[in-house]
Amino acid sequence: MTAPATPELPVVVIGAGPTGLAAAAHLVDRGIEPLVVEAGPAAGAAVREWAHVRLFSPWSELVDPAAEKLLAPTGWTRPDPSAHPSGGDWAERYLQPLADALGERVRTGARVTGVSRAGRDRLVDAGRDTQPFVVHVTRTDGTEERLLARAVIDASGTWTTPGPAGGSGLPALGERAAADRVTYRVPDLDDPA
Ligand SMILES: Cc1cc2nc3c(=O)[nH]c(=O)nc-3n(C[C@H](O)[C@H](O)[C@H](O)COP(=O)(O)OP(=O)(O)OC[C@H]3O[C@@H](n4cnc5c(N)ncnc54)[C@H](O)[C@@H]3O)c2cc1C
Repeated sequence: MTAPATPELPVVVIGAGPTGLAAAAHLVDRGIEPLVVEAGPAAGAAVREWAHVRLFSPWSELVDPAAEKLLAPTGWTRPDPSAHPSGGDWAERYLQPLADALGERVRTGARVTGVSRAGRDRLVDAGRDTQPFVVHVTRTDGTEERLLARAVIDASGTWTTPGPAGGSGLPALGERAAADRVTYRVPDLDDPA
């Protein structure tokens, strides 16, 4: 495959979760400009939805080395490596500071709704490898924009596409019919709302 002749364009990262932010930190470490596009209102939007749940992993396994390198000059201190944070702690004490350190390289309230190659469509296919990516973004206020990218990293996660309850990756018999009584999330039973 021929590398696109677009080194000046950013690498667009879809999602400011733990994976997307770590990918951005690694890109910065290698001198490549990332642009993280996050659908939610803040970094770690999916993790914040289960803020009340304690992780089974300790902090020592939850901080990416490249991210820590980026955070160090900001005065950030790594939490107790043996402690187990909640989702809320992970978001507030690591993901948000990391997004802040990345600064304008992170855009929130911006959902990626399509990825293509410039000038190529279902009829015009030749030379795709040499064309930059076009990333279609729809903002929370409904406005749209298109970004050009030298590469795209999909770190959008699986939170909004949960696996079915049935085995073999298929819905259990009757699962669809009971959809209004099934939650695939982790409800906070202490939350009166
Ligand atoms: C209750 C619970 C406990 C867990 N405990 C642990 C643990 O102890 N240890 C462990 O290693 N893992 C744990 N996990 C798993 C871990 O949280 C996930 O592996 C991790 O969050 C994946 O990170 P991610 O960045 O890939 O995806 P996500 O965290 O899902 O982040 C994806 C981001 O992309 C954004 N996004 C999605 N679609 C778009 C789009 N089209 N455009 C723009 N942005 C988009 C989302 O808003 C989100 O912010 C746990 C998960 C859950 C649910």
